[in-house]
Formats: sequence, structure tokens, C-alpha cells
Amino acid sequence: MNQNWLVKLGTFFIKLFLFLHFPIKKLIKSTIFQQFCGGETIQECESTIKHLHNLKVGTILDYSVEGEENEKSFQITKQEILKTIQKAHENQAIPFAVFKMTGIFQVELLEEFQTEAGLSEDNEDAFQHSKEILIEICQAAHDLQVRLFIDAEESWIQNTIDQLTYEMMERFNQQHAIVFNTFQMYRVDMLDNLTQAIQTAKEKSYLLGVKLVRGAYLEKERQRAHEEEYSEPLHKVKEHTDRDFNAGTIACLNNIDHVHFCIGTHNEQSCRILLEEMAKRQIANKHPHIYFAQLLGMSDNISYNLAAAGYNVAKYVPYGPVEAVMPYLFRRAEENSSIAGQTSREFTLLLNEVKRRKNA
Ligand SMILES: Cc1cc2nc3c(=O)[nH]c(=O)nc-3n(C[C@H](O)[C@H](O)[C@H](O)COP(=O)(O)OP(=O)(O)OC[C@H]3O[C@@H](n4cnc5c(N)ncnc54)[C@H](O)[C@@H]3O)c2cc1C
Repeated sequence: MNQNWLVKLGTFFIKLFLFLHFPIKKLIKSTIFQQFCGGETIQECESTIKHLHNLKVGTILDYSVEGEENEKSFQITKQEILKTIQKAHENQAIPFAVFKMTGIFQVELLEEFQTEAGLSEDNEDAFQHSKEILIEICQAAHDLQVRLFIDAEESWIQNTIDQLTYEMMERFNQQHAIVFNTFQMYRVDMLDNLTQAIQTAKEKSYLLGVKLVRGAYLEKERQRAHEEEYSEPLHKVKEHTDRDFNAGTIACLNNIDHVHFCIGTHNEQSCRILLEEMAKRQIANKHPHIYFAQLLGMSDNISYNLAAAGYNVAKYVPYGPVEAVMPYLFRRAEENSSIAGQTSREFTLLLNEVKRRKNA
């Protein structure tokens, strides 16, 4: 994956072979799937959960099936999310559950809801139906006392996701932080949104659940803004994303009595900043309001070292049928092939370690 051209070529052929129904599932399963996914079912993730737990790292089971959008797929997704909540309740190696709103809502409805005109009358019932599924999921998490991340997605549906999530927080986060919203700090407006969310949670006396990330849809966002000729909602340069990510971390720390937060990042510098700020404020490594999270198959150097030093750490463990998690795997492959990407950083660290051992 360190070779950009190889990733491009590999991705092209995998897509082609899958389209032609070539029998390559076994090959995928024993290579890229094994690197980034826990298995095809929760049952198959068992050994990964145990392995991570032995290293003091928690698991966040992430049902990563993408694609279909119909009542049947929404019901399947709902059942699967409920299973992950139940599993987290039974197993202390699983500190959070997670899901995406697009797993239970039609994208068009989420998008229409945040337009100036709002939802058309024809779509109100379908929207309400999905909202009931959302309430059922959050209610289950609340009843079983399982913390629940709601992932952030594209900006043209994110306002709707935010609004729904805050409604759930107000309802279910009175005593404990159950529902967590995700803040993408590559967006120019996100630091203000976070500050506002902290303020509102204080005023309305609920606990704010925060997952801070940089944001995964950079290319898609830029392309759409370009095609539809509106100004990009994202920072122009990475340094500004980094700056806001770190400022967001401090804002959460400054309000630690009201905010429970998790930084979802593979960036060493951002992790270091949080460690230093915690030490400065004499906040315990294992403070129950603070978590670090990475994705399975990435940045083990960060996850394992933080866990060994006594911090709360968890990894997203994606799972689902091989064919259905392919979009997730293609995103990981692309993300990891960039020169500045995490694989290069990890690859260099591993090479250095091999050299060190040779010379030892
Ligand atoms: C546990 C976990 C949960 C996650 N959940 C979500 C989620 O719910 N929603 C979501 O969207 N993503 C999510 N992500 C992915 C995340 O948003 C990032 O894409 C990914 O983690 C890479 O960012 P980084 O902080 O790890 O590291 P880095 O490698 O330091 O940062 C890369 C990121 O910087 C930003 N960036 C890069 N170039 C530029 C530029 N020119 N201008 C502005 N910004 C730039 C982009 O956001 C890019 O992804 C999650 C990641 C983790 C680890």
C-alpha cells in the first residue's frame, strides 16, 4: 500500500474481477480484508476483540455495509446495530457502539430536510419512520447503558444529522453521555459549532458526547462544490484543519465536566497535544470522559502505546460480508497510499525498528 501505483492498479482489477464475478473473495479475505476488518459477522470478530482486549484496547464494532437504501436494508442495519449494542452491553472489551444515519435514512431525505424549502409533504412519513428507528436504537443504547457514536458524513446531509443527534442527546444524555455526535474539523464552521454545542448542552443540562475527527470526504466535498459552484465548506489547507482539531480538543478539555469526548485520529501530534494538556491539568490518564480511537489495521503504534501507558483507547473494527465492505476497503487503500499517509509513517517506523534490531 505504500506504492501508489500498485494501489491504483490493484483497486482497478479488484473492481473488475468483482464485476465479472471472478472467485477472488478468498484472496481479498486473506489480504486487505484481514488487515482492516474483524470478520464477516460479529461472531467472526471474536478473536480480534480478544486480541485487542489483551493489549488493553477496546473494540468498537462497526457494521460497515454500504450501498442499498430501502426498507429491507434499513431493517437489517437496525437489527445489526441493536446486536452490536447488546454485545457491547455484555462485553466490557467493547466501550462504544457506532452507526451511520445513512444506514437507516434515505440520503435524499436527509438532504431535502436541510434545504431551505425543507421536507416535502410526500416524504414526511418516510422521514418519520426512519426517525422512529433512530429513537429505537438510542433507546436501546440508553437502556443498556452503552455509549453510541453517530458518524459524521457529507456536509449536504450533516446539518440534518446534527439536528437529529442533538434531539437524541437531549432525550438520552441527562444522566450519562450515551449519544455522541461527530465533529469534522476540516469544516470551516466546525469549531464554532462545537463551542455552540457545548454552550447549548450546558444551558439545557445534558451531557455532550463528542467524537472529534478531521473528516473523511475531502475529495467528494471539493468535487461537489466545484461542480455546483458554491464555496467549499472546508479549510483550504491542512494546517487549518490541524489547528481547529487541536483547538477543539482543548475546548472539550476546558469543559470536561460537561463533555465526554473521543479523538478519532491517526495523527501523532494531535494525540501528543491531548496527553500534554491532560498532564498540565493533572487529569488522570484513565479519566472516564476521555478516549482515543483509531481504525483497525492502522496506527497500532499509537493505539498500543497509549493503552500501555494507561489511557482509554479503542479501535473501530469494521465487519460485514466481504463484497459489501469493499467501498470501505477502497477508501482505506486510497487513504493509505498517499505519501504523507499513515502507512508511510508506520512503514518508516517499522523499517527503523528492523534496522535497530539488526544493529543491536
Ligand atoms: C476512530 C475514528 C473514527 C472516525 N469517524 C469518522 C466519521 O465519523 N466521519 C468522518 O468523516 N471521518 C471519520 N474518521 C476519519 C477521519 O475523519 C480522517 O479521515 C482520518 O482519520 C485521517 O485523519 P487523521 O486525523 O487520522 O490524520 P492526518 O493524516 O493528520 O489528517 C488527514 C486529514 O486531514 C484533512 N486534510 C488533508 N488535507 C487537507 C487539506 N489540504 N485541507 C484541509 N484539510 C485537509 C482531511 O480531513 C484528512 O482526512 C474517523 C477516524 C477514526 C480514526
